[in-house]
Amino acid sequence: MMKKTISRRDFLSQCGRCALFLAGMKTFDWVSLPSLSEAQALEKGFLGRKVSPYFTPLSDGLVRCELCPRLCQVEKGKRGYCRVRENIDGQYYSLVYGNPCAVHVDPIEKKPFFHVLPSTLSFSIATAGCNLNCKFCQNWEISQARPDDTLNYDLPPAEVVEKAKNYKCRSIASTYVEPTIFIEYMLEMGRLAREQKILKVIHSNGFINAAPLEDLCKVLDAACIDLKGFTEDYYRDLTQGSLGAVLATLKRLKDQKVHTEIVNLIVPGKNDDMKEIRAMCRWIRTELGPDVPVHFTRFYPLYKLKSLQPTPVATLEQAWKTALDEGLQFVYLGNLPGHEAEHTQCPQCKTRLIERTGYTVRMLHLQDGKCSKCGQAIAGIWKI
Ligand code: SF4
Repeated sequence: MMKKTISRRDFLSQCGRCALFLAGMKTFDWVSLPSLSEAQALEKGFLGRKVSPYFTPLSDGLVRCELCPRLCQVEKGKRGYCRVRENIDGQYYSLVYGNPCAVHVDPIEKKPFFHVLPSTLSFSIATAGCNLNCKFCQNWEISQARPDDTLNYDLPPAEVVEKAKNYKCRSIASTYVEPTIFIEYMLEMGRLAREQKILKVIHSNGFINAAPLEDLCKVLDAACIDLKGFTEDYYRDLTQGSLGAVLATLKRLKDQKVHTEIVNLIVPGKNDDMKEIRAMCRWIRTELGPDVPVHFTRFYPLYKLKSLQPTPVATLEQAWKTALDEGLQFVYLGNLPGHEAEHTQCPQCKTRLIERTGYTVRMLHLQDGKCSKCGQAIAGIWKI
């Protein structure tokens, strides 16, 4: 019998797909893009190159990337930390323009956005690479891969928008890995999406510099930002990032009036101290406002933290109560389908406005973005 072999590239791609399926509680059809074998035929020269506007040439052909706070200095022929940007003869290039390795049609609740066009579909895209290395990453097979090692689609921005329309998606999401690293692709997608009245949304780690973020905000409608912990030590030890940079991003998004939701993954024994969670909630209320939706999500053992247990439900519920106690109006628990903390209630009259189970919306009591009972305006994007 012939033995079937699989290349590292196929393996990584297929692992990425499995992880993305496992991350969701509800599966959706794959977008009809070239099958694995067809896409494989397009492998040669498949990395999309585009000169980045976010670098400064230094002496001796060295460049400094100014896209994220890591500020990588990169020699000729080398790549930055995120693996998708390369110094080619003193010019700094993105290698993933138009070449996503993950393309899905997801419910927008999966991003998770709970205050953006509930119960609609989001055309969701990621390339390989990331500018952090979180020990709990659920998509590490693609986030920590080079684009050379994943199986990539040839999907220019205009085709993304076309496919989003065909699949009746009301938004295009850059997600699964850190979208900052494919910003050139996102900017063009966002510009074209706006012309077609399709929202551009991201799920991001917020580790981006001020100037590129300002550019992005011009085409961005909503951002879901991971606030992974509330100490610099946690960020340094578990993510290789920095808390200060993420807090600055959150404030900039507020200044730019981009609808923002926050995700905090609670990892047992790492960032589950209620004093820390209280301080984080207080910061959110005072710096961003009480109506910013906050999602506490349950950790499952993955990647470099396989030895830990899943977050106890009691810990998540304690965080939920702490956030409500601190005055946050929209607090949710994620990865706990069926829990009462999945629903949205009116902060004024306490009427249940949106009832959810997992990613499914079961009931919607909003009229033009207001509580249908007392007329209280609810933060979010409820129509385009
Ligand atoms: S975007 Fe990538 S190359 Fe640029 S500074 Fe960040 S990690 Fe380095």
